[in-house]
Amino acid sequence: MSARVLVVDDILPNVKLLEAKLSSEYYDVLTATNGEEALEKAENESPDIILLDVMMPGMDGFEVCRRIKANPDIAHIPIVMVTALTDAEDKVRGLESGADDFLSKPINDTALMARVRSLVRLKMSLDEWRIRENTANQLGVVGEASNVMTEPVEGARVLVVEDKDFENKKVKETLAQDHDIVMSAESGAKAIELASAHDFDLMIVSLNLDEEDGLRLCSHLKSNEKTRGLPILMIGEIDDMSRIAHGLEIGAHDYILRPVDRNELIARVRTQIRRKRFQERLRSTYEISLSMALTDPLTGLYNRRYLEVHMQKLLQKNQTSKKSLGVLLIDIDHFKQVNDTHGHAVGDEVLKIFAERLTANLRSFDLVARIGGEEFIVILPDVSEQRAYMVAERLRCSISEVPVPCGVPEGTLNITTSVGGAIIDHGEHTTEEVMERADKCLYQAKEGGRNCTVFEGVGKLDPAQYKSEERQVIE
Ligand code: GH3
Ligand code: MG
Ligand code: MG
Repeated sequence: MSARVLVVDDILPNVKLLEAKLSSEYYDVLTATNGEEALEKAENESPDIILLDVMMPGMDGFEVCRRIKANPDIAHIPIVMVTALTDAEDKVRGLESGADDFLSKPINDTALMARVRSLVRLKMSLDEWRIRENTANQLGVVGEASNVMTEPVEGARVLVVEDKDFENKKVKETLAQDHDIVMSAESGAKAIELASAHDFDLMIVSLNLDEEDGLRLCSHLKSNEKTRGLPILMIGEIDDMSRIAHGLEIGAHDYILRPVDRNELIARVRTQIRRKRFQERLRSTYEISLSMALTDPLTGLYNRRYLEVHMQKLLQKNQTSKKSLGVLLIDIDHFKQVNDTHGHAVGDEVLKIFAERLTANLRSFDLVARIGGEEFIVILPDVSEQRAYMVAERLRCSISEVPVPCGVPEGTLNITTSVGGAIIDHGEHTTEEVMERADKCLYQAKEGGRNCTVFEGVGKLDPAQYKSEERQVIE
């Protein structure tokens, strides 16, 4: 996995050292020697991760970190602070300003590489959702830009896997300040059971369980569909460094060393919770935007864009299954008059009720879409000619025979529609051709006096005939 790493340090030999280490692992390395340059490169060169020195003249690392995290365009880029400071307070300050980790100089190579790899991997999965959010933005359906740093961190559901009472209690007490909902498991088996029964936001796993290997549990959770996305924070001893590196390799998100500093723990937990919630929000906006891009907000029916894509698939499927498709174009008669006489709002009410009646009179696998102002299309897969005629008449009558309730003094309006239909055999057809054929029939229905159905090759249907046939088919 190749990735771009931005190394920021005011001392050139430090930059060169990190650059050499990263390049030998095939990372693409960018460098900056002060805060301003770092910000400029973070914005313009889209690095996948930033290694940031804390002590620099002018703007220090904390400030650079805060500024990056305040900019929604780049806030999602992971930052590892690199420093000679070993004070727990500085560490926490770094984490609180939005850094993902804090490594001390001289840097342990194993720890560094494991960290870089795991953070780059996390960023890439987040990028996938950010690209989709971007698409949704272009479709004009998503409002404000999202920023990982503004996600709430309170009230998370956390599972703690720890067999020492004292340690367990310490973690629980610490998380209580964020009102997290904490459950505990003393064994891997119990943890797996709880994780599959509940939706957790984070799992904290001890690597020093007496009876088993916490890493094995991490690996199990990562290979399981339901728990794969669950962030894992490992707790280990300084001597566990190679196992911790292995844990990051198999997908754990972060770790903390014993003795656990409460402030560091809460800062790391918050980072994980923020990121998880950010990703969930990107996903749900994407899903909502997708449905908005493909449906019509007034009636809730599919729109023309969806129809065009879907029709293509139906036509292909038809060729292989050797069945016939019924296509009906339905257009409200003199709808302009409804608007002119009663106003646009009444027109909208009529459209909504019309859409409801269409849906109510079709099978679940028939497709209805609103393809124009007062023009709808119905596609009936796997349908006989007789059945298509009957459905067309049933839909037409569902409007003409029951006055439409709406905001007019009389309480209801009499509305009629015209229908143009065609049966599409299993040969090769294009969407354009199919629409044109149905449209010709619709035109004939309008010419022929409206409130009627015209089918290709058949002409105007006799309402009386299909009324009686419908009774037979239903029975
Ligand atoms: P015809 O019987 O020949 O179809 O006549 P018509 O008046 O229904 O057809 P025309 O195409 O002349 O007018 C369609 C009208 O539909 C014009 C427009 O004001 C109205 N319309 C289109 N979209 C909407 C909408 O979303 N809401 C409302 N209220 N009216 C709409
Ligand atoms: Mg019309
Ligand atoms: Mg029209």
